[in-house]
Amino acid sequence: MEDFYKILGVEKNATADEIKKAYRNLALKYHPDVNKSKSAEEKFKEINEAYAVLSDAEKRKEYDAYGPEGFNQKFTQEDIFRNFDFEKVFRDFGINFGNDEDFGRGVFGDLFGFSSNRKEEDQGSSILARADITLEDAYKGTVKKIRLRHVLKCDNCGGSGAEPGSNIIKCDKCGGVGQIKTTRRTMLGIMQTISVCPKCGGTGKIFEKPCRSCGGTGKKVGEQTIDVDIPKGVENGTRLRLRGMGDYGKSGSGDLYVEINVLKNPKFERKGNDLYTELHIPFYTAILGGKVKVQTFEGERELTINEGTQNNSKVTLSNYGMPEPRGNRKGDEVVIIKVDMPKNLSKEQKELIRRFEELDSKKKIFGLF
Ligand SMILES: [Zn+2]
Ligand SMILES: [Zn+2]
Repeated sequence: MEDFYKILGVEKNATADEIKKAYRNLALKYHPDVNKSKSAEEKFKEINEAYAVLSDAEKRKEYDAYGPEGFNQKFTQEDIFRNFDFEKVFRDFGINFGNDEDFGRGVFGDLFGFSSNRKEEDQGSSILARADITLEDAYKGTVKKIRLRHVLKCDNCGGSGAEPGSNIIKCDKCGGVGQIKTTRRTMLGIMQTISVCPKCGGTGKIFEKPCRSCGGTGKKVGEQTIDVDIPKGVENGTRLRLRGMGDYGKSGSGDLYVEINVLKNPKFERKGNDLYTELHIPFYTAILGGKVKVQTFEGERELTINEGTQNNSKVTLSNYGMPEPRGNRKGDEVVIIKVDMPKNLSKEQKELIRRFEELDSKKKIFGLF
């Protein structure tokens, strides 16, 4: 049994403040989340044991009186850690490794076999559903009905788990204290641990008659149809969060996430907030120019084709693209012009093209027009 003062590297007459400071430095150095060596874990346990005793005036007095060997014989691990709240100690120190909330429970739970005394939470799970919508739905926004099969509140007991009219009585498993003591073997020897009573969930109270419909859980798996508001401009892959619409839990229901799958549109392709579409026009319109009709999500629109328009050139219709998810603006509709070349010309048509060819070559030779 090593001397607790030596473990913390302080003098026998060290003040509470010095002990605290020494412990903090060592805890930071040997914390299993930071220091991955096997010896660090051992060391970390030692310094916590030392601090649990030396930071408590009563325990320290006993330790000083009995000495390391005597103290070890007289007191159990449970005695050493009695009233010692790791979570609180670390919170007071402002030590934060990653997830603050899980930190104390996780590390100390694993190392020392302690479990938190907090009441058991019955938080419903969050669930994920998918909704297929068309691009036009995404353009205009829509309400989509989705069917879900998940954990719902039991309708017989209203989620309480009690048969209607049933009395509330003391939990017979824990005797009404809400906790259960168990003795178990840990790395530090045999220890008593206190855990939340699984029967009453830490409340110490149970219902005399559990609900006959759900067996006391307050939950039932069932189907539900819900209307999901899909905002205009929504992008493919967006997850909409519907608070409290997930699985039911007595401490609160989880959330429902609806992942939006925007189906491919045969006519429009979305790039950001712009919509791209192809428009086929006859070659003579490309050459001479003219007016054509083009599809938009606001109906057909007239588009002016300039004289001498080339294949694959783009014409932009401003403000006919997708609405911005948050905002009042819209992207553009970009029309890609595809010039169709005629096939299977009649004799007369071919003669006209040849005539055109003749004129065109003369134009080149004489540099006319
Ligand atoms: Zn029920
Ligand atoms: Zn109980």
